[in-house]
Amino acid sequence: MGIITPQGILLDANSAALHLIQANRSDVIGKPFWETPWWSYSTRLQKRLKTSIARASQGKIVRFETEHIASDGKHITVDFSLEAVRNRQGKITHLVAEGRDITQRKRIENLRKEFLSAAAHELKTPITVLKLLTQSHIAKAKGGEDTISVNELELIDRELSRLTRIIDDILDSSRFETGQLFLVLKEINLVQLVQETIKKITLYAKNHTIFFRREEQDLFVTADAARIEQVLLNLLSNAVKYSPSGTKVTIAIEKKGTYAIVSIQDEGFGIAKTKQKIIFNKYYQIKKRVKNGFGLGLYISKEIVKRHHGRIWVESTIGKGSTFFFSLPLSKRSSSQSS
Ligand code: ADP
Repeated sequence: MGIITPQGILLDANSAALHLIQANRSDVIGKPFWETPWWSYSTRLQKRLKTSIARASQGKIVRFETEHIASDGKHITVDFSLEAVRNRQGKITHLVAEGRDITQRKRIENLRKEFLSAAAHELKTPITVLKLLTQSHIAKAKGGEDTISVNELELIDRELSRLTRIIDDILDSSRFETGQLFLVLKEINLVQLVQETIKKITLYAKNHTIFFRREEQDLFVTADAARIEQVLLNLLSNAVKYSPSGTKVTIAIEKKGTYAIVSIQDEGFGIAKTKQKIIFNKYYQIKKRVKNGFGLGLYISKEIVKRHHGRIWVESTIGKGSTFFFSLPLSKRSSSQSS
């Protein structure tokens, strides 16, 4: 915040404002506001500020969003406003300048916009396929033909499953936000669950060889089986999606202390070190890798694992492949047996 004269001379600024430009009070006080480092790097901004001060000193409320460069060189988005302060006689004596850093809010807003357009795009593809199919069958039926083939019914079924998956992901992510995701916890054999999930993915991953390595016959965890299966399916389908045909995917399960650790290793593109944390963020996708999906799979997996008091992480080398890991606390009967 700052206080300026109606002519635009800076009288005072608070410490948050000074911190932003790494300046001392004495560096800026007494200067025209537009000549201070908050504005001086852009003549366009300076002009805008000058007109705004003229308007505010006539009693008009001024408010606009602007990009600023902080002292560390980062661009920040600021919600800026100027408001007049009057004396008892109604004369404008000062202007109060206020700038709110809304960078984070803006970033989330932009991600949301990108997400909405990606989601709409994803939903459109299966819907277009279904629409074309039904239209062609309406035309055939009108002509007295009745010829829907098994192949076409299977295509409809596949596309409907895709739609359901996308919608479920969107619903899940909003359930996490509102804290409305409830787990149905039971003691389950994780080794068996992994085995069953591999069977399911093998049906889709015909171009990859899937291996399963385990040291224990049984590992019991208290978990929501459907949700853990969802994590496994997300990680396995990513391993297949982001690695070339003909490569290997290895799933392993082992006991470490009081935890079960599941790992899914691929021989794919790999993930740069700088991206290894943020890929778990909501909507995040590494650019230029256009495949179906829109950045919710890992976020949902992380939230599910977290709610089971476990951890999820990745180790990866670009060009060599990635291994995703997640841990789950073992239930008493497994953790008390020594391995
Ligand atoms: P989506 O697959 O829908 O993009 P995810 O949340 O599952 O979303 O993954 C986020 C991003 O992480 C992906 O866009 C992809 O770039 C990267 N990624 C995930 N799994 C792998 C993997 N096994 N190998 C390489 N990159 C991966």
